[in-house]
Amino acid sequence: MKNPEQARLFALEQLNLLDTTPSESFDRITRMASQLFGVPISAVSLTDTNRQWFKSRVGVDHQEIPREKAPCAAVCDSAEIVVIPDMLDSNVYQDSHLANTGIRFYAGAPLTTREGQTLGAMCVLGREPREVTEQERATLVDLAAMVMSQIELQHAFGRVDPLTGLANSGQFDEDLQDLALDAPGERRAALFTEVVEASKLSDLHRTMGPAFLDELTRVSAQCLQEAIGRDSPLYHLGGCKFIHLVSADSDARLVDHALRLRKNLMDLESAREVPVQVQPVIGITSILLGETTSSDILRSAHAASLDARQMGKGAGAFSSALEERFQRRSMLLSDIGRALDGDDELYLVFQPRVSVATGFCQGAEALLRWRHPVLGEVSPAEFIPLIENTPMARSLTAWVVCRAIHQAALWHRQGKKLRISINVSATNLEEADFTQRVLAELHQARLPSSAIELEVTESALIGKGEAAASRLNELIAAGILIAIDDFGTGYSSLSYLHEIPANIVKIDRCFITHLGEDARTQSLVGSMIGMAHELGYSVVAEGVESEAALACLGRMGCNEVQGYLLAKPLLPGAFEAWLAEQAL
Ligand code: C2E
Ligand code: MG
Ligand code: MG
Repeated sequence: MKNPEQARLFALEQLNLLDTTPSESFDRITRMASQLFGVPISAVSLTDTNRQWFKSRVGVDHQEIPREKAPCAAVCDSAEIVVIPDMLDSNVYQDSHLANTGIRFYAGAPLTTREGQTLGAMCVLGREPREVTEQERATLVDLAAMVMSQIELQHAFGRVDPLTGLANSGQFDEDLQDLALDAPGERRAALFTEVVEASKLSDLHRTMGPAFLDELTRVSAQCLQEAIGRDSPLYHLGGCKFIHLVSADSDARLVDHALRLRKNLMDLESAREVPVQVQPVIGITSILLGETTSSDILRSAHAASLDARQMGKGAGAFSSALEERFQRRSMLLSDIGRALDGDDELYLVFQPRVSVATGFCQGAEALLRWRHPVLGEVSPAEFIPLIENTPMARSLTAWVVCRAIHQAALWHRQGKKLRISINVSATNLEEADFTQRVLAELHQARLPSSAIELEVTESALIGKGEAAASRLNELIAAGILIAIDDFGTGYSSLSYLHEIPANIVKIDRCFITHLGEDARTQSLVGSMIGMAHELGYSVVAEGVESEAALACLGRMGCNEVQGYLLAKPLLPGAFEAWLAEQAL
């Protein structure tokens, strides 16, 4: 624990007042002081380590004087009013800096914070000796209080969120430093509450308007503050996200506590105070005061909340396993750029697609692989979803399109007229020049549009609306086939299908793998195929692993199959060998 003078200097430093520019709001008070006392000099004087620094002054030119033998320093040290009717009569001050500059009279009242720290003095000075009445003492105390209100007001400004009236992240950071000084090494836990999922915020903003979000934030703030108690500070981080500290406890008990808090927020909806369904999650992280920085806390508590949301839980605690996962994620995110620039980490494999009727291979799906120098082989199922929502999605797909078309061109020149299907992310369909770029690649490779097919997952298309649909129409008009990938796993149903411009439906492998053994799945897949055919789509079944599944699909009239039964995804050389074997 620091000594009282250190604590006082720390408080002064936190207010960010020293060495700042003059401000009219303080000068108004010093002018008034001079007038009320009928003296030429008055100042708001702050006691720094070795100096008295004037935030505001009337009648003096210099900005600071030495702290030694400054009467303001005595006001600060004693936290009491000091009156020196005549400096020349005072043993202490007769040879002080002020006395040497002709000052005789001094009166100063302490500037004291709410927490009881004295920052300096509100003082009046004159060149003539003078007494001070009781009433003048009271006036000086009032003026000091006015200065303090002004200081507090300025300090609060920029630290309070005007929407909720709660402290903001700047204040959180500062309070955390204070706490760390008070109780270094102690443990606490931080609870980060996200009322609305970040990705849903902009939707709400668009559909319900900004005033609605403001109201939701206010109501949530009130609800949380009531639940945690008026004495515990709650901080609004913006975007309907809040953070507060609680005593350290086991993860299990903290999660229980968080779930109770969350229940309060959920009740807002049933009480009809919030007209939309909110899905709050709370991320918890343990902290060591003095060691964990506020940015660490925000990062790990946020990570815990993201994880809880992904797992469909209302609250979750940060753990070392989570930390590892997040480090892995951030490593993948930061390394993909390098992988795309070089040519030794990313590569494509090709999985054959076979016609059910003829048994011939008509095409192949290009699947991306990443051999990461540290993490080894990383599955696209892990890294694609991470990258899909970043600006990297564009270059990633551009890379795949370019390499896949290049491979298709090589095979076409060898007489293998395969159609290569390429997976694209829904975000790619938002790129205005997407179609032109794909066509330019085909043109350069001297390939017809029919040499490729593009796969987009059904779930990724949901919510993309008009823009995606018009891009798909554009591609189809250019002669490129479109497949709806992973069909059946999205939210949508067959009834939604006819709204997506596409030619092919790829039924997800979760329906196919055990098709041979499960009668219910058989009837489901049977009707999916029937309906898709009626709507004019060609059907591909993914994940065919058994003869039994293949036989079922044959009976159901499925057009093409893809799966380990026929071949795993293969490197180009192995793919060629496989093709040669089929031809025998
Ligand atoms: P997808 O497009 O549905 O690809 C099919 C996935 O199923 C592939 O996984 C494939 O290896 C796997 N698979 C194929 N047959 C079988 C089978 O019989 N049994 C089982 N258990 N699995 C089978 P992979 O290569 O790990 O790719 C996973 C997903 O990553 C892909 O699913 C696709 O959504 C995405 N992806 C892969 N490459 C790319 C790419 O270049 N761009 C984009 N945007 N996404 C890609
Ligand atoms: Mg696919
Ligand atoms: Mg698929």
